[in-house]
Amino acid sequence: RPLTSNDLIEEHRICVCVRARPLNKKEISVKDLDVITIPSKDVVMVHEPKQKVDLTRYLENQTFRFDYAFDENSTNEMVYRFTAQPLVETIFERGMATCFAYGQTGSGKTHTMGGDFSGKNQDCSKGIYALSARDVFLMLKKPVYKKLDLQVFATFFEIYSGKVFDLLNHKAKLRVLEDGKQQVQVVGLQEREVKCTEDVLKLIEMGNSCRTSGQTSANAHSSRSHAVFQIILRRRGKMHGKFSLIDLAGNERGADTSSADRQTRLEGAEINKSLLALKECIRALGRNKPHTPFRASKLTQVLRDSFIGENSRTCMIATVSPGMASCENTLNTLRYANRLVLE
Ligand code: ADP
Ligand code: MG
Repeated sequence: RPLTSNDLIEEHRICVCVRARPLNKKEISVKDLDVITIPSKDVVMVHEPKQKVDLTRYLENQTFRFDYAFDENSTNEMVYRFTAQPLVETIFERGMATCFAYGQTGSGKTHTMGGDFSGKNQDCSKGIYALSARDVFLMLKKPVYKKLDLQVFATFFEIYSGKVFDLLNHKAKLRVLEDGKQQVQVVGLQEREVKCTEDVLKLIEMGNSCRTSGQTSANAHSSRSHAVFQIILRRRGKMHGKFSLIDLAGNERGADTSSADRQTRLEGAEINKSLLALKECIRALGRNKPHTPFRASKLTQVLRDSFIGENSRTCMIATVSPGMASCENTLNTLRYANRLVLE
């Protein structure tokens, strides 16, 4: 069924949800406490430890409501079904879709988007990148789309400190150009044709190993960069729809602003700037407001075309760590996510 303008008004352009991961071994070993409760499918409660002036301690409960809240027992498949899956249809209907994972380092962004990379048996087939690709190929088999003769392409790149690197081409540094009509182009970005889910899995693996290569600690570089995986539908060479799936840089940058290392401070500032610009661009989604700060960061600049179209949709998955030690970051994440939908 083709979309009508009525649908656009009726349907949500933005879906915001939260996902809490379970306490991990390390948190359990230091007896960190789980301060998150998800009492119903769209409510998150945070029990923040506080102290009165007389030093008695208490927990202050803060409640947030989202489109969906996924607790520690949720699977990627469940999260996918309510977040990215509806957006697969959008790109077949000539729309632009984006799906973001936002949260502090270690909260589960990469686990959600890219799949599991913690153990020895790295498996990207259960991540939202792969699940989306699987459904793209299922949709292609439907008679109504089959007759369009669409081709599928994938790109995978990283934005680090305001620069773009191609994860499908040995981290080649790429230039971003904007023409007079504000069309943004990442010059030389590899766009690989994919014929089946297997093809996509290979590209995800390749990009992921490229992303993490040369890193001393697992989170050193990847937590400071945004990873963008795109599935592009083309019809006779022309773009038909595009789905951008983004594993954002960790949002816990407060400490960086006072770091002794200049480079660290600059990177932290850049990440803060891009996440703030992203918030404004999502809030303006599909409305093409004159003062939307697309150019305030590389991330929002390269995603510009996905924010402005009439049929643009987005989904934000805010990931949170359940431990008391992460409470402040968790509250920051939830407040940011909340701002995307509140006036
Ligand atoms: P981020 O990308 O936000 O820094 P990761 O996705 O790397 O975080 O997750 C950190 C660790 O927690 C990894 O070992 C990952 O496997 C684990 N993890 C994350 N989310 C979940 C989850 N929902 N269930 C089980 N383990 C998880
Ligand atoms: Mg990560």
